[in-house]
Amino acid sequence: MADRLSAVKGMNDIVPPRSAAWEWFEQQVRELMRSYGYQNLRTPIVEYTPLFVRSIGEVTDIVEKEMYSFTDALNGEPLTLRPEGTAAVVRACIEHGLLHDGGKRLWYSGPMFRHERPQRGRYRQFHQVGAEALGFAGPDVDAELILMARQLWRRLGVSELTTLEINCLGQSEERVRHRVDLIAYLQRHADRLDADASRRLHTNPLRVLDSKNPQVQELVQGAPRLIDYLGEASLAHFEGVQSLLRAAGQAYTVNPRLVRGLDYYNLTVFEWTTDRLGAQATICAGGRYDGLIAQIGGKPAPACGWALGIERVLELLAEAGQTPPAAAPHAYAVLSSAELMPHVLPVCEALREAGVQVQLHMGGGSMKSQMKKADASGARWALVFGEEELRQGQVGLKDLRGAQDAQQQRLLPLDPLQHLVCALR
Ligand code: ATP
Ligand code: MG
Repeated sequence: MADRLSAVKGMNDIVPPRSAAWEWFEQQVRELMRSYGYQNLRTPIVEYTPLFVRSIGEVTDIVEKEMYSFTDALNGEPLTLRPEGTAAVVRACIEHGLLHDGGKRLWYSGPMFRHERPQRGRYRQFHQVGAEALGFAGPDVDAELILMARQLWRRLGVSELTTLEINCLGQSEERVRHRVDLIAYLQRHADRLDADASRRLHTNPLRVLDSKNPQVQELVQGAPRLIDYLGEASLAHFEGVQSLLRAAGQAYTVNPRLVRGLDYYNLTVFEWTTDRLGAQATICAGGRYDGLIAQIGGKPAPACGWALGIERVLELLAEAGQTPPAAAPHAYAVLSSAELMPHVLPVCEALREAGVQVQLHMGGGSMKSQMKKADASGARWALVFGEEELRQGQVGLKDLRGAQDAQQQRLLPLDPLQHLVCALR
């Protein structure tokens, strides 16, 4: 309803104090990516629609019914709010010739848009972190990417709640033979297919394996397994990934029904799931997409990557009782009279320059109410500026988190400021 002036359905504000968890998470991700040598790439939120249609595939949930596509009213161009990150990463790599000197390891983070039915863990604007390694063909990159996600779960303290499933989709030639048998099997059980599955039976039967409908899922259990149609090279790649995972002590399940909701994958696919988030169980998913770069018009090069849903991962963190550190400043400065502001403001500026985080009280009020605010800010210290103390070049310092007797105010000189800086950090 346009006149409600609320946020759009399925699109959420991220407000404090919750936003602190997001900031903390983003910091963990930045450090993780740096530790593996992945570089940050930022692409626009809007792309030309054909980029997604061609890469994700016409007969997929995303392209058939989830994309926010529109015509630019000013020039008639077909545009789409990005539903995922990989297609744009590949486009940007081609456009900027990023692969001219060999492989590139890249990561991104940001909002994605899909017109889905909003529910816990499923939104219309949601956020992903993605990692993509382009130009590397070996199973070692697949393993590195999977282990990188594991490293993140460890940092976040949720490893115990995650499980890894992997599968191998082979190459398109291998999928052709499987497809014939899969269609025949599904046709034999046509009465158990829902509308989506029947429609996909001929256009994109592999998609049927990805159905969320429990009845179709049950049927799929007995379907021909793609893994039984794979040739030597595909199986060797798959075994390569598995042996590296074993070498790194990472447990996994081979799930022969695991396919992904996007068409560009081949060989390795994987999902990190959890049993703590109900139906929205997949927190991170990805795989190899060796054909995509050439398909979008680049020089053929192999690639592999994953994306994780930030909302789901943060939800899992909450489920696990992991509370990210609150975003509190080191100190909260209070002042006995607003007239002191011209003296207090420059001191606070100097403290911040020296690396101290200071929240300066504004809006007046009694000392008592200011101290309440200081406490609520989560700061460890209260800096108490009084007229008499300032005249003597001093400031009061109070430990807001110490034991009762440690909470006595003590006085520190403002010159040199270093004494105060040391006391506050
Ligand atoms: P699902 O099967 O849950 O619909 P998907 O296969 O469509 O997921 P991907 O396109 O692989 O998901 O995206 C990677 C990750 O992004 C997912 O594993 C999930 O954590 C997250 N994700 C996808 N769609 C949404 C959404 N609408 N809301 C929140 N998170 C999402
Ligand atoms: Mg989906």
